[in-house]
Amino acid sequence: MELLKERIRKDGVVKEGNVLKVDRFLNHQMDVKLFREIGKELKKRFEGENINKILTIEASGIGIACIAAEIFDVPVVFAKKTQTKNIAGDVYTTKVESYTHGRVYDIIVSKEFLGEGDRVLLIDDFLANGKALEGLAKLVKDSGAELVGAGVVIEKGFQPGGDFLRKQTHLESLAIVDSMDEKTGEITFRE
Ligand code: 5GP
Repeated sequence: MELLKERIRKDGVVKEGNVLKVDRFLNHQMDVKLFREIGKELKKRFEGENINKILTIEASGIGIACIAAEIFDVPVVFAKKTQTKNIAGDVYTTKVESYTHGRVYDIIVSKEFLGEGDRVLLIDDFLANGKALEGLAKLVKDSGAELVGAGVVIEKGFQPGGDFLRKQTHLESLAIVDSMDEKTGEITFRE
C-alpha cells in the first residue's frame, strides 16, 4: 500500500532492537484518515470472505481494528492482556510473549464474544515473530470459530512471523519492511 509506505518513510523512526517507531501516526498519535484507507484496503483484500467478526489484541491493535470494523460493518473484539493467576472458566485463554516488552502475558477473550459460526479476521499493527497473531489464532481455534485470515499494517519481513503465518492462514500485510538501518534510518520495503 503505497500511501502507507510513504508515511512510514516520512515518519517512521528506526530504533535499536529492530523496533520501528511509528508513534507519529499509528501507535501514539493516530491518523484516523490513514486508518480509514488501511481499513478500505483490508476490505478489498478480504472481499467475499463473509467475515462477521474482527479480533485484535490490546492495546495498539485496537484503534486500527475499530476503524476497519466500521468499514467491514462487523463487531470488533479485543483480547485482553492479564496477569491474573486465577482466570475464570468462561474465557478462552493462551500465553503470548510480547515482542516489545519481552514478557509473557496471558490473553483472554470471553466465551460470550467468540464461538461457532464466527468467521474471524485478525488485525494487528505489527507482525514480528508472530506470537501475538499466533495467540489470537489459537483463541479462535479453541472457540470453534473459523479463522479467515490476518490483516497486518506493518510486517517486518526479516523476522520469522510472516513466513510462519502464511503457512497457516491468509495473511495480508499492507507494508512489508525487508530491512531497516538503525544508523542511517533507511527503510527498504518488499515490492
Ligand atoms: P510479534 O508477536 O509478531 O513478535 O510482535 C507483534 C506485536 O509486537 C505487535 O502487536 C506490536 O505491538 C509489537 N511490535 C513488534 N515489533 C514492533 C515494532 O517494530 N514496532 C512497534 N511499534 N511495535 C512492534
